[in-house]
Amino acid sequence: MIEQTVKPTCRSCQSENIVKNGRNAGGKQQYRCKDCGVHRVLEPTVRYDQGRKEEILRAYQERSSLRGISRTFGVSRPTVAAWLKKRRRLPKVADCQTALKSFH
Ligand SMILES: [Zn+2]
Repeated sequence: MIEQTVKPTCRSCQSENIVKNGRNAGGKQQYRCKDCGVHRVLEPTVRYDQGRKEEILRAYQERSSLRGISRTFGVSRPTVAAWLKKRRRLPKVADCQTALKSFH
């Protein structure tokens, strides 16, 4: 068996030429890339995968109750609120069309 060491790489340019650069407010390890100069969190904590997130957000659209959603899925209300905020910032084309239709 070949043992592979997974080296952390820059998520912008895939360079391995990165240096640790302290921690952010949430206590996460940050790095700075010497090649492209980005300054980011090395390993973001991903607690929910995209499918799960979509499922939860869909449920929210149906019920419109953060309290109910957080109880049903065991997700904290601030977490769901943050997802909704993000989603609002990046509206899908289909959502825009729906919004336009209901506007007319
Ligand atoms: Zn880079």
